[in-house]
Amino acid sequence: DRGADLAGISGTCEFLSPAAGSVSADEEDATLLPGWHEIEDEKKNFILAELEIDQRARQGYESQRFLLQKQKSGWVKENRPAAPLTQVELDRVYELPFQRCPSSANANIPAFTMIRDSVTIVRGCSGNCSFCALTRHQGAQVVSRTEESILREAKNVVRQTGFKGTISDLGGPTANLYATSCSLDKPCSRKDCLYPEVCKHLQIDEDSFVNLLQAVAELAGVKKVLISSGLRLALLRRTPKLLARIIRHHLPGVMKIAPEHSEPEILRLMHKNDALELDEFLQEARTLALKAKVKVDFTPYLISSHPGCSVEEMRNLAQSIKCNDLKARQYQDFTPTPGTLSTAMYVSGRDRDTLKPIRVAKGATERQQQRQELEKVSGRQKSRPHIRTSSCKPGCTKCRPRRTGKRK
Ligand code: SF4
Repeated sequence: DRGADLAGISGTCEFLSPAAGSVSADEEDATLLPGWHEIEDEKKNFILAELEIDQRARQGYESQRFLLQKQKSGWVKENRPAAPLTQVELDRVYELPFQRCPSSANANIPAFTMIRDSVTIVRGCSGNCSFCALTRHQGAQVVSRTEESILREAKNVVRQTGFKGTISDLGGPTANLYATSCSLDKPCSRKDCLYPEVCKHLQIDEDSFVNLLQAVAELAGVKKVLISSGLRLALLRRTPKLLARIIRHHLPGVMKIAPEHSEPEILRLMHKNDALELDEFLQEARTLALKAKVKVDFTPYLISSHPGCSVEEMRNLAQSIKCNDLKARQYQDFTPTPGTLSTAMYVSGRDRDTLKPIRVAKGATERQQQRQELEKVSGRQKSRPHIRTSSCKPGCTKCRPRRTGKRK
């Protein structure tokens, strides 16, 4: 309305005419991505563009460069990322006087029941899973709300009509990144804090999260506080007090964990910590649950048909699930979605690290075969002992040795 120029606003994209795009392409701080026709001619260019976009998303607002990509007609310019909200700003945004209910024009939203009694405590994610576009939406820098602000919102939840005493989630993209920060006093362009292992500069303040959980649980009218958002196992293993508290007080009987796979090559392509992390985590968590006399089941989130994955690797994953005494209840076929490196691997058929060709299951038959391997260990089919392979844990009692020699 005021006639202000909307060009160049951080965190936005602009469509430029062919002439304006050509001028921008000559600017010193422009990064040119492979264009539409180059990608159409050579799919490898898709992943090259996505890697550049990913790198820039991680650098965040510290990057002074803008991205430029030629389209069929005209250009798209992506201005430098917006600065993340400060803690004060984040508190203010989440404490705006939201109605906390759907519009009367569309009141029947199934997902609303899941979020109605939940409170967001953290924004951004410094993990870097290949299949997730969260960094593109919220940035790689983690910003946590203050305990005071979260408590004020939790009190509003308690006052809502129909609140039954359970805060369904204190979370965010990754709940236990709450109160984490970087100890470096200069900007880090990597911002990939959990892979291949937790960065030595990542500061984890488990006391803040433990105190927050306790404070919300003690609010008048609150009977139970749950954590339903994802939890990073690599971090939980470094925060024993928090893990013990979560197991004792904040689970609805099931802990959702997200190993996604067990095979080292697929985990590398997914940019997830290795399978040993899952084995060791389960051991620690089960010991804690036993000590606390709490029954906890673990539901692993798993992905089939991720780029690079074959039926054989899914078979190994299924065996690892069985060996770990888990059931595959939550799994999905990989589906390409915008803005992820997994999608770029799917389209280009290239490895995100080496750019070498990888196999990609695209046909319905192979995708179904991969999924069926998990169905076999879902607990919904009659359980049969499986044949021991090199991926079985030593001492596993759920598998039988491979038959050798001729049958009598
Ligand atoms: S130095 Fe480590 S902890 Fe800090 S932002 Fe970079 S990767 Fe993350």
